[in-house]
Amino acid sequence: MLDRRTRRAGVGKTPYERLVFHVDMDAFFASVEVMCRPKLRGLPVIVCGKPTTRSVVAAASYPARKYGIRSGMSTVEAFNLCPHAVPVEGNPGQYIYVSLELLRIYKEFSTIVEPYSIDEAFIEMTGTEWTWDNCEEAGRQIKARTCTSASPISPRP
Ligand SMILES: [Mg+2]
Repeated sequence: MLDRRTRRAGVGKTPYERLVFHVDMDAFFASVEVMCRPKLRGLPVIVCGKPTTRSVVAAASYPARKYGIRSGMSTVEAFNLCPHAVPVEGNPGQYIYVSLELLRIYKEFSTIVEPYSIDEAFIEMTGTEWTWDNCEEAGRQIKARTCTSASPISPRP
């Protein structure tokens, strides 16, 4: 049983001595494209190089994944699986912008955030227990915040 002082400090809300969240966006490039162009929502979007050249799939939306399309696959193979797939040329500047915006949001939850890739980061949650009721709720708050914050559309660089 925790003593009163320990409970007041927030320790005991989690059974862990240390708590680090790993956040990873789903189908990041494709999700950013759909966010920026809502008419693509629900379509089998594949983010790739110029549609006129041979390239590989950098990201596939969930509707595209239902056809078996995966990242790293050639676009030729992707179109064989789904002839009506919607090719979208990747926009690295836009992905960097959204990635930096996500990092800014994570820093609202913790002062220690470590980017791991363009769509992944680690968030040190140890010591932030006083701001949330339980770690699952903290995770839900981060997820909700990043989903709602994904709506504003930045200018395409
Ligand atoms: Mg990811």
